[in-house]
Amino acid sequence: MDQQTKKRIAVIPGDGIGQEVIPQALNVIRATGAAVEFTEFDWGADRYLRDGTTLPPDGFAMLARDYDAILAGAFGDPRVKTNIHAKEILLGMRFQMDLYANVRPVRLLDASLCPLKGVEPKDVDFVVIRENTEGVYGDLGGVFKKGTPDEIATQEDINTRKGVERIIRYAFEYCARHTKQDGSPRRSVLMCDKSNAMTHAGGLWQRVFKEVSTEFPQITTQHLYVDALCMQMVRDPRQFDVVVTNNMFGDIITDLAAGLQGGLGMAASVNIHPGRTSMFEPVHGSAPPIAGKDIANPFGAILTAAMMLAHLGMTRESEKIEAAVLEAVRQKKGTQDIGGTLGTREAGEWVAERAGK
Ligand code: ATP
Repeated sequence: MDQQTKKRIAVIPGDGIGQEVIPQALNVIRATGAAVEFTEFDWGADRYLRDGTTLPPDGFAMLARDYDAILAGAFGDPRVKTNIHAKEILLGMRFQMDLYANVRPVRLLDASLCPLKGVEPKDVDFVVIRENTEGVYGDLGGVFKKGTPDEIATQEDINTRKGVERIIRYAFEYCARHTKQDGSPRRSVLMCDKSNAMTHAGGLWQRVFKEVSTEFPQITTQHLYVDALCMQMVRDPRQFDVVVTNNMFGDIITDLAAGLQGGLGMAASVNIHPGRTSMFEPVHGSAPPIAGKDIANPFGAILTAAMMLAHLGMTRESEKIEAAVLEAVRQKKGTQDIGGTLGTREAGEWVAERAGK
C-alpha cells in the first residue's frame, strides 16, 4: 500500500483499561487490512507522574494538522487526585479542537445483552447527540468561604446561542442523512432538557429547537424532560430515534443507554467538528477497579474503531469488524460482563481472527 494513501491515526490509549482495550482495537483494525498507519502517544497518568506533561504545548494543533483521526482510550487514575491530566487531555481535545458534537449510537446487538424483557435488537437503535463544549463542563464558577459553615459553591451552566444552535442543527442533519440498522430512514429528533426548572438555559434550547426544526419539515420533533426521558428509555426504548441534549444530560443518559446495550463495555462514540479531525473513544472511562486484570470488555473500543473506519470511508473493513463482534456476542466469545468467559486479550483476538477472514 502506498504510504501516501494510508490514513494517519493518532492513538492515545491513556489510563486504566484504556491501555488494555485500545491494543485490541488496533489488532482488529490491522486484521482487516485497512489502509491506516498508527502513531502512538503516551499521554496519560504515567507520563504526567513521570515528567509533568499532560500534553505538549502544540499537541492539539499537531493532532488537527497531522492526523486524519484520533483513537483514544480513557483517562483518569486514582494516583492523580486532581484529575488534571484527564481534564487537559480529554476535555482539552473536546474544547480546544472544538469537537462540539459527541455522537453516541445506542444499538442492541443481541437480545441476550439487554436487561429488559422481550426487547429485540430492532427495538434499540437510536443515537444520542451530546453537546460537547459547553454546559457545566467549562468548570466556571468558584468557591467562597471554603471550609466554613457559610461556604458557597457555584458551577456555571454555559449555553451560548451559537453552541446550542450548531448542536441542534447537527442533530437534524444527522437524522436527515442516516438510516437505521434495518435500512429504514431516521425520522425524528427528540430534544431533552430540564426547561421546567432551568428556565433560562432551557428557554434558549426550546426556542432554538423550534426555529431549526422549521428547516427540516420532513423530520418529526419530540421533547422530553430529562427525568421523564430516563423513565421512558427503560419503559420503551423503541420510541427513540435521534436524541439531542446538553453536555451533562448527554453524559448521564448515555450511561443509562449503555445499560440497554449490554453495559459500558459495549458502547462506542465519536467527538466531531465537521471538516476537522475527529476523536473516537469508547463511552466507558478508565475503570480503575478492573484495570490491569485482563477482564475489561474490549468490544466498546473495537466498535469505536469500526465507527472510525466507516468515517474514514473504509466501509468494508468497518462492516467486517461489526459482523465479527456480533458473532462473538452470539457465540459468547466475550468477557464476563456480557456473559462470556474470555479475557480482554482473548476476546480481542477472537474478533481479530474473524474480522481478518
Ligand atoms: P468516567 O467518568 O471517566 O466516564 P466512570 O466513573 O463513569 O468513568 P467507568 O470508568 O466508565 O466509570 O466504569 C465504571 C464501571 O463500569 C467500572 O468500574 C466497571 O465495573 C464497569 N465498566 C466500565 N467499562 C467497562 C468495560 N470495558 N468492561 C467491563 N466493565 C466496564
